[in-house]
Amino acid sequence: MSLAEHRENDDDEGVVVSEEYDVIVIGMGVGGEEVATRTTGGGLRVLCIEKKLVGGECPYWGCIPSKVMVRAGTTLAEAARAVGLAGEGRISPDWAPVAGRVREFTGSWDDKAAVERHQEQGATVLHGEARILSQGEVEAGGRRYSASRGIVVATGGEPVTPPIDGITDVDFWTNREAIEAESVPASLIVLGAGPIGLELAQVYARFGSDVSIVEVANHALPAEEPENGAAIEEMLARDGISLSTGAKAEKVVSSSAGIAVHLAGGGVLKAERLLVATGRRHNLSAIGLENVGLDPEARSIEVDEHLRAAEGVWAVGDVTGKGEFTHVAVYQGRVAAADLLGQQHAPADYSAVPRVTFTDPEVASVGLTEKQARDTGLDVAVGVAETSSSARGYIHGPGAEHGVYKLVADTRAGVLVGGSVMGPAAGEVVGTLVLAIKEKVPVARLRELIYPYPTFVRGLEDALNELGEAVAPG
Ligand SMILES: Cc1cc2nc3c(=O)[nH]c(=O)nc-3n(C[C@H](O)[C@H](O)[C@H](O)COP(=O)(O)OP(=O)(O)OC[C@H]3O[C@@H](n4cnc5c(N)ncnc54)[C@H](O)[C@@H]3O)c2cc1C
Repeated sequence: MSLAEHRENDDDEGVVVSEEYDVIVIGMGVGGEEVATRTTGGGLRVLCIEKKLVGGECPYWGCIPSKVMVRAGTTLAEAARAVGLAGEGRISPDWAPVAGRVREFTGSWDDKAAVERHQEQGATVLHGEARILSQGEVEAGGRRYSASRGIVVATGGEPVTPPIDGITDVDFWTNREAIEAESVPASLIVLGAGPIGLELAQVYARFGSDVSIVEVANHALPAEEPENGAAIEEMLARDGISLSTGAKAEKVVSSSAGIAVHLAGGGVLKAERLLVATGRRHNLSAIGLENVGLDPEARSIEVDEHLRAAEGVWAVGDVTGKGEFTHVAVYQGRVAAADLLGQQHAPADYSAVPRVTFTDPEVASVGLTEKQARDTGLDVAVGVAETSSSARGYIHGPGAEHGVYKLVADTRAGVLVGGSVMGPAAGEVVGTLVLAIKEKVPVARLRELIYPYPTFVRGLEDALNELGEAVAPG
C-alpha cells in the first residue's frame, strides 16, 4: 500500500481508530529495514515508520558516503606514493568530484527508491515520528496502529554533543555536515579520535585542510589495541595532522575569525571549522519505552539472544548497545525477524564481531583486546608481527610501513579470543580471524594452514608463530 493510498480510518465521531498490522517497525535504518524485508517476505503485514530517511544513517551520512570520501582520499595518497615506485606525476586535489559522488550515492539525500523497494515488497511505509503507547500499540502522526505479533524498536542514534563550555553557541559540524560539505574548510579541528573522527580527519587533510585532532584518551582509537593507536598516530603525522592525546577541550569560542578550542591546561587551537565526533547516543528517550516497562533513560535497550526486549517488543541495531555497526544491525535484524516469523535461528552471538576503521592504512579487529582478555581472567599469550616484515608488506612499501598484526590467545583453551590487523586491506584480512574466533579453531590448526604467498593475510602466520608454544596444542 502506498502512502497516498493509506486508509483514512476515522469513525463517525472523527476519532482515529487503529489500523492493524502483524509487525510495526519503528526506525528504518539498516536494522529496521532488515526486519521489515524479512517479515514482509515471510507473509506478515508490516508497517514501517521512519522519522527521516528510509535507510537511516549508513547510506546517507555514515558508512557509504564516508567510504566514498575515504576512497577519494586514498586515491590521492596512492598517487603521491607513485614517486619512487612508478614515476613522477602531479595530481591536484579537487573536492567537486567527491561531493558529486556523495550526492550520487545518497540520491541527494532522497529515500524515494528505498521507500518504493519496501512498498514493492509489500510493506506499508509511513514517514513520521512513532511512539509506543502500550504493548502492541503505536502512535504516529496522530494515528494509532496495532501490531498483533510485535513492535520492533530500531531507532538508532545521533551524535553526542559533549559537555564543553560554549559548544551550544557554536555552529559545529557533526558527521552529517562533514558528509554533506560542498567545500573543504581551510582548517578543521576534530574532537574525538575514534573511527568516525579519524576517517573524516584524514580525508579532509588529504584534500588540503589543516587538521588538528583532540582526543581525551591517551591514544588514538581508544577502543582498540594501543599498538594500533601508536601506529595510526605516525600515519596521521605523515598526512600533516596534529593529534593531541590526553587532551580535554574545556571551552569553545566562535568569532568572525573562526572557532577556538581551549584545552584544559592551557593550549588553544584555532580553525575555520569544528567537527564533533565524540560518540553517539541512542534514540530512546522519546519513543514511549516506559509504556512497555522499559527504561527510556537507559543507555541502550537490553535484549535477549532473540532480540526480545519486553513482551511483544524486539529491539535491533545501535539501540541494543552490542556494537554500532551496520553488520551488527543487519545480523540482529535477521535473528529478530526469524523469531517474529516463528522460525528457528541460532541465538545471537557477539563473540566475533569485526570492527574496521577505514583509515589508510585500515585498522581491523575482532573479539577481545589483550587488556580485555586479561581483565576477564584468561591466561593470555600474545603474538605480534609487523606488516612491513611480511613479504607482501615489504613489497608494498609506502602505505604498509606502520602496519601490525596482533593476536590474543587463551593459552589453556588453545584458541584465539581476539585479533587486530593494521595495514592495507586489513578489513579483508580480518575475515580469517572472524572465522577462527567464532569457530574456536585451535591455534595449532591455524598454524597448519597454507596461507597464500605473498599476501597480507599471510602476515597472520608470522603472528601465529610469535604465539609460539605458549598455547596449548588444542
Ligand atoms: C560517519 C559514520 C560512518 C560509519 N561507518 C560505518 C562503517 O563503515 N561500517 C559499519 O558497519 N558501520 C558504520 N557506521 C555505523 C552505522 O551507520 C550504524 O551502526 C547503523 O546505521 C545503525 O543502524 P540502525 O538501524 O541501528 O540505526 P540508524 O541507521 O541510526 O537508523 C535509525 C532510524 O530510526 C529513525 N528514528 C529515530 N527515532 C524514530 C522515531 N521515534 N520514529 C520513527 N523513526 C525514528 C531515524 O530517523 C533513523 O533513520 C558509521 C556511522 C557513522 C556516523
